[in-house]
Amino acid sequence: MKRSRLLTLLVGGVFCLAVMSLYRMLELMQGAEPQPRRDAPDEQDLSRLQQKIDRLERLLSDNNRLVARLRDSLLQHKASWERGGGGANVSSDSTHSQAAPPPGCRLAEEMKDGADGVQLLDVYDLLPFDNPDGGAWKQGFEIGYRGDEWDEQPLELFLVPHSHNDPGWLKTFDGYYQDQTRHILDNMLQKLSQDHRRKMVWAEISYFSKWWNDIDDQKRATVKRLVGAGQLELVTGGWVMADEANSHYFALLDQLMEGHQWLHRHLGVTPSSGWAIDPFGHSPSMTYLLKGAGLQNMVIQRVHYAVKKHFARQQTLEFLWRQTWDSSPRSDITCHMMPFYSYDVPHTCGPNPAVCCQFDFHRLPGRRVFCPWRVPPQPITDQNVQERALLLLDQYRQKSQLFRSPVLLVPLGDDFRFVETSEWDVQFTNYQKLFDYFEQHPELHIKARFGTLSDYFQALHRRLGAAGTSLPTLRGDFFTYADRDDHYWSGFFTSRPFYKRLDRTLEATLRATEILFSLTLAEMRRFGADGRPDARFPARDHFRRLTVGRRNLGLFQHHDAVTGTGRDPVVVDYVSCFQDEVMSAQDALPQKTMLELSDEPRSLIVFNPTEQLQTSVISVTVDSPDAHVVDAETGRPMAAQISAAWVEPSQVSTEMFQVRMSSSMGLLIGSVIGLLIGSVIGLLIHVAVALLRGRTSSSVAPRLSCDQSSSWLHPPGTLHHPSPWRPTKSPLVRVSRGPIFSDITSCFQHFTHTVRLFHLDGHAGKSLEISNMVDIRSEVNRELVMRFVSDVANGNRFYSDLNGFQMQQRRTLLKLPLQANFYPMTSAAFLQDSGSRLTLLSAQSQAVASLRPGELEVVLDRRLQQDDNRGLGQGITDNKLTASLYHLLLEDRRGGAQKQSNVVYAVQSTVEHLSLLAHLTSLSLSHPPITMVAPSDSQLPKLRPFLPLRLSLPCDIHLLNLRTLEDTQVRSTPGDTPLKHLSDVSCWSWTTGRVIDFLQHCPIKRSDEETFNKI
Ligand SMILES: [Zn+2]
Repeated sequence: MKRSRLLTLLVGGVFCLAVMSLYRMLELMQGAEPQPRRDAPDEQDLSRLQQKIDRLERLLSDNNRLVARLRDSLLQHKASWERGGGGANVSSDSTHSQAAPPPGCRLAEEMKDGADGVQLLDVYDLLPFDNPDGGAWKQGFEIGYRGDEWDEQPLELFLVPHSHNDPGWLKTFDGYYQDQTRHILDNMLQKLSQDHRRKMVWAEISYFSKWWNDIDDQKRATVKRLVGAGQLELVTGGWVMADEANSHYFALLDQLMEGHQWLHRHLGVTPSSGWAIDPFGHSPSMTYLLKGAGLQNMVIQRVHYAVKKHFARQQTLEFLWRQTWDSSPRSDITCHMMPFYSYDVPHTCGPNPAVCCQFDFHRLPGRRVFCPWRVPPQPITDQNVQERALLLLDQYRQKSQLFRSPVLLVPLGDDFRFVETSEWDVQFTNYQKLFDYFEQHPELHIKARFGTLSDYFQALHRRLGAAGTSLPTLRGDFFTYADRDDHYWSGFFTSRPFYKRLDRTLEATLRATEILFSLTLAEMRRFGADGRPDARFPARDHFRRLTVGRRNLGLFQHHDAVTGTGRDPVVVDYVSCFQDEVMSAQDALPQKTMLELSDEPRSLIVFNPTEQLQTSVISVTVDSPDAHVVDAETGRPMAAQISAAWVEPSQVSTEMFQVRMSSSMGLLIGSVIGLLIGSVIGLLIHVAVALLRGRTSSSVAPRLSCDQSSSWLHPPGTLHHPSPWRPTKSPLVRVSRGPIFSDITSCFQHFTHTVRLFHLDGHAGKSLEISNMVDIRSEVNRELVMRFVSDVANGNRFYSDLNGFQMQQRRTLLKLPLQANFYPMTSAAFLQDSGSRLTLLSAQSQAVASLRPGELEVVLDRRLQQDDNRGLGQGITDNKLTASLYHLLLEDRRGGAQKQSNVVYAVQSTVEHLSLLAHLTSLSLSHPPITMVAPSDSQLPKLRPFLPLRLSLPCDIHLLNLRTLEDTQVRSTPGDTPLKHLSDVSCWSWTTGRVIDFLQHCPIKRSDEETFNKI
């Protein structure tokens, strides 16, 4: 404690000195200011003044850098002191964090980050995470009330019936649909129609649309009537209730569009409220997309229990969720966080689950489910209605004390509820009796009814407005989630990495296909009559297949799919959907097709799916080492590198060879390359295999798992810093050098690790490519981790991305267990200090942590034998040979202060973004060129490059997709020309277009905007 104070004082002192000297300079400048003169100042005076201003600017810059260095050094000292024993003492950790930051840094933070509202990072610093027993509400506290709080403003309660339908978990999508979902929806029609006071909400459009296809017109009319009457509300409107940790925002948006377009077309509605009760942690990227899709309100549930308790005490469970980087309220969405452990009935009516369970009438004696608290529900009768109503009212009143308004949201449902008609009857009739009792007793000051989310939020906004109460704003995300004790759900950030990689490959393929289809459709419409595509182009057939691809990718964003938390057969079922699209084998890496060469040239068509000019390396497997590569357009030879294809770590194939050539391609261009056996022989001269002893810059450390590690959870272990694995056998190391790339491959027992450097101009030559091939199938309870060790002085802070959309600061806290310090990395993570930034760009989602200053580690794969008691009933043992791909970038930040002349420079600001170079590298990594081989025996006319867009897009604009919408009149037919949607729906610029780096390096010019709109 003393050391820390001393350090703060020291830093404060040095800072004061710096400020004093700056102030003195200002004073001197003022003194030197020319006196006002009657005549205009001459040129010389003006230039002198300009020079002085320039000098002052430089001084300011230097000063900012000094502050940055001081802050870094403070963080470093703080981190090292905490390591030295402070971490064991929980209270000291939180006391430290409450100490005021150095004044200069505070100014910087205020300027760059919104100073208003709640910043979740600060909440994490503040909380002790001590988990005391809260009594009836185990993870909370005793809630008291006087009883007269509602005399003036009665309690307004909305009971929202729901049924959580996972599109695949223990059963497959179709399995659930046949056994449960279709009955739930059939009964919904019947039971809601019986009484106009009954309501329900539904979220999963994948199920809803499937059921819609099965019902007749009469039932469809009933659905429309119920929706129109406000009895049935479609909430969120996504194809699934998407995972928010592993999913890339491309896929999040795509499944949202698919669901919303379906709703718009069939029911003519746009959802206004979000309902995400089961994803394992929540991301602001999702709220940004929801807001953009027209939603105003949302409900979330799976948030760390300690955060919930803190928010409940502060009455901040309802807040305006604001983007970290946005200083305006335009992205705000009203968010309601459920206060208790779960979304089931025992944990939603109030703080005491033993009481609430008695109001889940599906658990009445004699039915299939029961209350584990051993007090069963009772049917409501004239005799017991008063006692039951008052018991329930007490829970409602306690829950209401946690919120700022007297409007209360109480969900009524659980997983796959309301399957049987009798369940509808017991729930709706018993609750109606209670509501009637409340209505007959105005002295209780409660108005209770069934409601939808819109009913609730409308009442909430009305009441808040009338009382002049405002909700606090909140910035940040809700990872890493813990549901109880030290059970942190960070395992699913990595579980089943084979499928996480597959998901991203599918995304890239779908996007490229969508773009090519849309461009071709537009081209074909030019040749067709009346704006219709040329009849020879099978637009409808292609569009139908695209729709299937979109929906399969959408389904995989479900919170038990891409997360790797479904049962083995369910995982196989998801992937079998993809089989038609891109995979020939469902449980193996795709095999490369060998190209047979001869004197006749073979044509390769290469499509650059990015909107930027990129120099990329194209790789093909051929049957001859004498390959000769030419540009098909000009006939000029192209630089190529021919290397060996390895069948075993030390065995070279004599029949297959790798040809890699660099190709420079403009935006969305398909270029043509010719390949033949030529007189110029290949460059493969010598292959040597050697056993080497040595070190590479990254190390791979397997960690032993403890009990309870599972598909969702990381082990609650005490191993704070697992040591690198020492292989018993020396690795076999292969080294290649060539004009296009050089690489080193190390072959260990469980993995092959390749580090490659491309000798190319442009951004491709500025980073190091790292690829791993992992196989831990012979291991038991192991996790394989890749760790980078650097001298970047990042203290306890690092940054990981949220859904590939924005960067989020992370703080490694020693008061939290190991598994709590892992965070999701969808596409990027970095460490930085005042001098440099080390960025890891990833082609797949994985767990990431920085357990020590200068270190970054990524969990590559995990194999777990046991279940974790979260319902799955199995471990994860279906591991596969899994590939992973990264780019590592080291950037100099020392020039940053000068470049950001209008903003005070903070080294570890809460808001940071990838640099332009990192963005472009990430884009190339996620969307590599697509290589297609033209048939050799075809009589096709000579292929020519395809140049759909002759304009270059500004480098800070990302073309997310060119997505053709369905025709509004004819089903399964491509509709509006997608190019019209470039500037609204289909085109999303990086939010980080706001990044200072970006604007400085690549300002959007007015003319660019106009060009873009014209396309
Ligand atoms: Zn679920």
